[in-house]
Amino acid sequence: MIQEVKQNNIIDGKLISQKILNDLRTELEHSQSHPTLAVILVGNDPASEIYVRMKEKAAKNVGITSRVMKLPSDVSQSSLEETIIKLNNDTEVDGILLQLPLPSGLNEERALELISPKKDVDGLTVNNFGRLFAGHRSFVPCTPQGIIELLKQSDVDIPGKHAVVIGRSNLVGRPIAHLLEEENATVTICHSKTRDIAKYTKDADILIVAVGKAGIIGKEHVKEGAVIIDVGINRVNGKLAGDVNFDEVAPIAGKITPVPGGVGPMTIAMLLKNTVHANKRDGNV
Ligand code: NAP
Repeated sequence: MIQEVKQNNIIDGKLISQKILNDLRTELEHSQSHPTLAVILVGNDPASEIYVRMKEKAAKNVGITSRVMKLPSDVSQSSLEETIIKLNNDTEVDGILLQLPLPSGLNEERALELISPKKDVDGLTVNNFGRLFAGHRSFVPCTPQGIIELLKQSDVDIPGKHAVVIGRSNLVGRPIAHLLEEENATVTICHSKTRDIAKYTKDADILIVAVGKAGIIGKEHVKEGAVIIDVGINRVNGKLAGDVNFDEVAPIAGKITPVPGGVGPMTIAMLLKNTVHANKRDGNV
């Protein structure tokens, strides 16, 4: 019985992202455009290397050229910045992605800020972030954009719903809270200083969990029938796990994303969508 419930309520991010990638491929096949995405990978963090390989493979499949610039972990801030400036000035490059986190000692914020807003396909520069919050969207950060797409493609009704977001990072929590508010949800943001998180999460119609702590959300936090989006990526005994205790929560959730196979593939699809968008705009923000 539980198995049956789980099969029906899983939001399949792999399937939904595949449709988006197929559409992008078809679009590029029918156009004369050949977008190029430059990815800067500093050091040899195994997880970052895997993510970059996944992005490269997905880009190739849809017809986007990816250029991976590998820099050693002891690269100086000025060399990193020079690489970004060169890519900004390279007319063949449409999008630039700086794979985070950077090794310690490098100034992430300064490096990100150097990326031209016109090529900032991750949507993380202050310029693009400010535009998003001021209602003049340019590039929307990939993971939050992917979450909205997942909800829409899964026929989740957002207006008027109570959405609770756990986490307030610039990468996920803040922008997804804003996007949900733009979709007319009533939004509550929780973080590490929130007292009695369950008080808020139990009232959520839509619960977005972006914390980075395996299994932090259990069935005691969730209202029956709620939509649960698990953004967390954690490694537990060598396996990937989300922030939500999936086995416990899936039977009572209305819909739920698995980890892996939920939000992750959507993040990549949105990155490529933003790259195609950057190419079409040909240098305009
Ligand atoms: P982050 O910058 O470390 O932010 C984590 C947030 O969680 C912070 O706002 C923090 O609160 C809050 N938090 C920490 N402990 C908490 C607790 N016990 N109760 C409530 N809130 C708590 O992480 P992030 O970059 O947003 O990423 C979050 C997770 O998503 C990570 O596992 C990351 O790997 C994953 N991720 C996945 C994708 C994907 O494509 N699937 C993309 C990006 C990130 P404070 O602000 O008070 O410190």
